[in-house]
Amino acid sequence: MSDLVEPRKADIVYETENPILYSVENGIASITMDRPKYGNTQNSQMTYALDDAFMKAVNDDAVRVIVLRGNGKHFSSGHDIGSPGRDVVKSWPDRKMPWWDHANKPGAEFNYAREQEVYLGLSRRWRDIPKPTIAMVQGACIAGGLMLAWVCDLIVASDDAFFADPVIRMGIPGVEYFAHPFELPPRVAKEFLLLGERMSAQRAYDLGMVNKIVPRDKLEEATYAWAAKLAEFPRMGLALTKQAINHVEDLRGKRTAMDAVFHMHHLAHAHNDLISTNHLAGQDAKSMAAANKKNA
Ligand code: ZN
Repeated sequence: MSDLVEPRKADIVYETENPILYSVENGIASITMDRPKYGNTQNSQMTYALDDAFMKAVNDDAVRVIVLRGNGKHFSSGHDIGSPGRDVVKSWPDRKMPWWDHANKPGAEFNYAREQEVYLGLSRRWRDIPKPTIAMVQGACIAGGLMLAWVCDLIVASDDAFFADPVIRMGIPGVEYFAHPFELPPRVAKEFLLLGERMSAQRAYDLGMVNKIVPRDKLEEATYAWAAKLAEFPRMGLALTKQAINHVEDLRGKRTAMDAVFHMHHLAHAHNDLISTNHLAGQDAKSMAAANKKNA
């Protein structure tokens, strides 16, 4: 039986103080994940810095559109499950959701409170940003990386991008922001989750999960061309249009489905804690990377 809470790792070593870069030009805010050494994996340091950057863009009237991007080879290889900067045990006093601090909580409460805040809560908060958002995706967009691309309104990908949610290996039914059967037809979502295989940018485009594919060296140009176009349109019109589509998705059950599946996700975490060495069924960054390479 494992510890009641995540193994306490006292020595969090951040490789940077600024995991998110932020700049504004011509009405376009660029929010750049900057942990290229770790495939831009998301620790809490990064998710809170992302939230700060998004809110800065929301509050700046000069910003009309937001581009979310990742430095280096990959857009995002998911949640941080193994870098020296993995910080799941850390308290964050300035939380954004009405959930209490997870860090000193026992049993399933630890992960439940943490993920209500940092994964489900923050992802939904970003989806609701009233300015249009574009994800600019190259290389890997895996698991927690999908959550970031999916909360954006448009996804522009390079032809070498690939998508996967391989958490079945952890006995988990998909990442916390469970949009899979809304982003993909249900049978494809089943294949995507049951097999955990990589989906090419081309297939993602064919299924409507991605808006545009371009060669890698044209990715920035194509993304910013769309951003520039959006920056010309009326702010309220863009906000209302985005809200209209999000509202219809929620009428189709997106939000309530996500609420229900979040609890299955946490049954899986708790089950893993009972039968293995951690809430990820004994997996870590290394074992997942090795397995994913085989399943490419
Ligand atoms: Zn989780």
